[in-house]
Amino acid sequence: MLANKPVIGISAPYHEESRGYRITHCYGDAVVTAGGIAVMIPAANSKEDTERLLPCLDGILIPGGPDVDPFLYGEEPKQGLGAVIPANDQFEIHLIRAAREAHKPILCICRGIQVLNVAFGGTLYQDLPSQLPESLRHSQIPVDRREPTHTVDVEKDSYLFRAYGKETIRVNSFHHQAVKDVAPGFTVSARARDGLVEAIEICEEHILGVQWHPEEMVRRYPEHLELFRQLVQVSSIQ
Ligand code: MN
Repeated sequence: MLANKPVIGISAPYHEESRGYRITHCYGDAVVTAGGIAVMIPAANSKEDTERLLPCLDGILIPGGPDVDPFLYGEEPKQGLGAVIPANDQFEIHLIRAAREAHKPILCICRGIQVLNVAFGGTLYQDLPSQLPESLRHSQIPVDRREPTHTVDVEKDSYLFRAYGKETIRVNSFHHQAVKDVAPGFTVSARARDGLVEAIEICEEHILGVQWHPEEMVRRYPEHLELFRQLVQVSSIQ
């Protein structure tokens, strides 16, 4: 137990169907189980207010969600692109950039890795089945979200490896978009067996994005809790 629990700010994007700012309970549960204090930040906040909020936070978590607007990486919408919510993209890009500027640890999950990559100049596949038909089935629907379906190879000596402590992990997969060109300054720390990027990071800045959903797997496969433990740990020593 850490003497001073770090405060982890979790982005809460606007959700069309429920007309709410919404994330699944698993993110907050994982942060709390890992020893942190979880705070949700509605995507309503302006760029300036987001910057003002940062001194109150020790670490940042960007959750999963819908597709990223391709305009943000210089493309027009291709066939297969899902619904986009530009206000959520803008908010999370501001939050990520401001957090990095303030040297806060950042963990980005699923859509989060995509926003992270785009925030610093990377690009995405808009739709894997149409753009990379030879790729694995990364959109594992319908199945139990708590169960893994594909293998990921982890780069040794990476920040990601520090969390899991192994070179091969089994992950769940609920994405039809993925990192294409990796943002400058980032390294790839995990790939699926089809070569697709599954994690990017800046090790020394404690910035990590993963394409899978560790928060869904922590109860059945506790090794996935280590990502949240790592976030909490590095956030508490800032
Ligand atoms: Mn995948």
